Amino acid sequence: MKHRSPRRAGAVLAAALLLPGALPAQPVAPAPGPAVQAAPGAELPDRLLALETLGRAQPAPASQQLQALLDASPAFSDLRLALLTVQGLMWAEAAQGDAAERSAVQLDAWPESAGPARAARAAAAALLIRASLAAHGGHDLQRADQLLQQALQALPAGVPDLERYRFVAAHGFIKDRAGQLEAAVRLNHEALALADRIGTPWRRAEARSALAYSYFGASQLERARTLSDEALAVATAAGDAVALGRAHNTAGIVLDGLGDREGDRRSFELAISHARRAGAKRDEARYLANSADFYLKKGDYRTALGHAQRALPLARELRDPDTELVSLANIGFAHIAMQQLAPGKRFVAQAIAIDEQRGAWGGAASTYLELGTYLEKAGDLRGAVAAYHRHRKLAAGVLRVDQQKAILAMQEQYDAEQRSRSLALLQREQDIKAEQLHRRDLQQRLWWLLAAALVASFGVLVALQRRVRQANRLLARSNQVLRQYGERDPLTGLANRRGFQAAMQQRAADGTLSGTLYLIDVDHFKRINDRHGHAAGDAALVEVAQRLRATLREDDLIVRWGGEEFLVVVQALSPERIDALARRMLGALQATPVQVERQTIAVTASIGFATFPIGPGALAVPWERAVNLVDTAMYLAKTRGRNRAYGVRLRQAANDASLEAITGALEAAADDGRVALTLLRGDGGEPSVEQAA
Ligand code: GH3
Ligand code: MG
Ligand code: MG
Repeated sequence: MKHRSPRRAGAVLAAALLLPGALPAQPVAPAPGPAVQAAPGAELPDRLLALETLGRAQPAPASQQLQALLDASPAFSDLRLALLTVQGLMWAEAAQGDAAERSAVQLDAWPESAGPARAARAAAAALLIRASLAAHGGHDLQRADQLLQQALQALPAGVPDLERYRFVAAHGFIKDRAGQLEAAVRLNHEALALADRIGTPWRRAEARSALAYSYFGASQLERARTLSDEALAVATAAGDAVALGRAHNTAGIVLDGLGDREGDRRSFELAISHARRAGAKRDEARYLANSADFYLKKGDYRTALGHAQRALPLARELRDPDTELVSLANIGFAHIAMQQLAPGKRFVAQAIAIDEQRGAWGGAASTYLELGTYLEKAGDLRGAVAAYHRHRKLAAGVLRVDQQKAILAMQEQYDAEQRSRSLALLQREQDIKAEQLHRRDLQQRLWWLLAAALVASFGVLVALQRRVRQANRLLARSNQVLRQYGERDPLTGLANRRGFQAAMQQRAADGTLSGTLYLIDVDHFKRINDRHGHAAGDAALVEVAQRLRATLREDDLIVRWGGEEFLVVVQALSPERIDALARRMLGALQATPVQVERQTIAVTASIGFATFPIGPGALAVPWERAVNLVDTAMYLAKTRGRNRAYGVRLRQAANDASLEAITGALEAAADDGRVALTLLRGDGGEPSVEQAA
């Protein structure tokens, strides 16, 4: 695993201020104190630039030293504004939230009497610092993005290039991390132009590295390489170790993408040694953790393990959760690759726990996917299946969380519009004389709001769609890996996933599913294992498979989909027979308990089902989505008491997007009448249809 971005928020956010000046070839010692690398008696802007240059490698001592300059700076001056901004960004970089917040609070307190433009710049800088804090360690990119947008709105036109650069570069960084690559490329281009005008060599180099990385993310490898070459040339001319480290790291990633295995190894090792020379521990930890990923891919597990093990304590010392996570995962993968499965799984579980704690479900999902690949290669097929299964569940969950977020964002937009509308109405009542003027003004504002709402919701939809596409790509990948299994499940003799896929391919070349799909998940199977032992659990699964076979016809497809999950595909039937079959399967399982040696095991299951192509419009659906839909229906059966089946029927024609929305919120779709849910109970209760009146 490697960082989703090779850079970090603070580094770009803490970009230089004020005049370019003499650059120290080496950073100063980290000891706090008034000593600054710039010559004694140098102009203050030179000293600030020197400290800022140092701050990229060692933010904590640099921001402490900035305090001496701050104490001597005139109240509410431009200089003080710049010092506070740089200091706040450095604290954010060092993950010192309280200290960064203190800088932001001082900027917030800027009085209008210092000049309205300066007060606005201070307010914008406070927002920038808070955005950097939110982005630090990838904690809350959405909030970081919102804060930066507010900051850019607050920033008056005509501020110096250097000041604007900080905002634009930070925004580019956040967009890049959030995967909004077009925006990231555009912003990083703008930042590069500003950096060239400002002229500080290390900034010019780092702006190129940033843009190279965004191009890399957007799969424009040749452009990425050109820019990364430029970054290297500029950084080399500047002799700046931090910029050199970042340029080599980016070059390594780009060369890796281009398949230049020798070139990328050299680049990663150079990045590590430059970072160490600069005393830039955070960079060093990142590069070590990233290069472990590269050595894993090369099959050099020992070096990978060594690098990741060196990165881990650094990441913990620096409170950098991203790097800690990547190190833990790579230590785990290296162990697994060397057949040390138990410790390997423990390390990977710790990595996943970090993502889960901060609600980064997408990150956790891709770690499971990677875990599955390593376990599979190591021959632990059961572990691999479990990991793929977790991946699939989480990837589907990510869609749901994203949809909720998108809906909340739209709701906020709508509320804001409502509020301003009623405020405007109030004003109209109070001031009848000015009515005409107001109305014109009001209308204009409403149009703007409406336009803004449209633009915003369009943006949300585009982002959402991209996430949906990404999730589907991940699903496709895990399915592709599964194809390498044999086509039969050794325990039950049923088709396994690979067999299912092969059958799907045979039936429809375009990957769409036709027929009725049932997903059957045994209830409380963990308890069965716990009470009767794993061997009895296995025997119960064999019996479940046998009973399904007996209930179904020869030409129906029965698949062991996961541990205690089965998938059934039958060819077109009438609606009555579709429901009856669900009922028969429930009955076949619950009617007589399973007898294993002298133990009696009661077995029930929960089922979700639907028929495809789906709905009055007969929408053709890829089988993955079909499975997601019945999976959701199956979960509904779980949450509503188990030992029951839910069938989904669309009451209106649907397209891909609306089906996706229905899958994401099935109960809501039933409530507002988009779907009808048929409920069948295993205990023989009357069937019923749940739909809006
Ligand atoms: P729920 O009703 O919510 O589905 O509860 P559950 O316990 O069935 O669900 P969960 O998915 O949490 O647990 C499934 C269990 O099935 C966990 C795993 O140990 C067990 N399992 C998976 N594959 C096999 C297998 O091949 N043999 C046995 N004996 N157990 C298995
Ligand atoms: Mg299950
Ligand atoms: Mg179960």
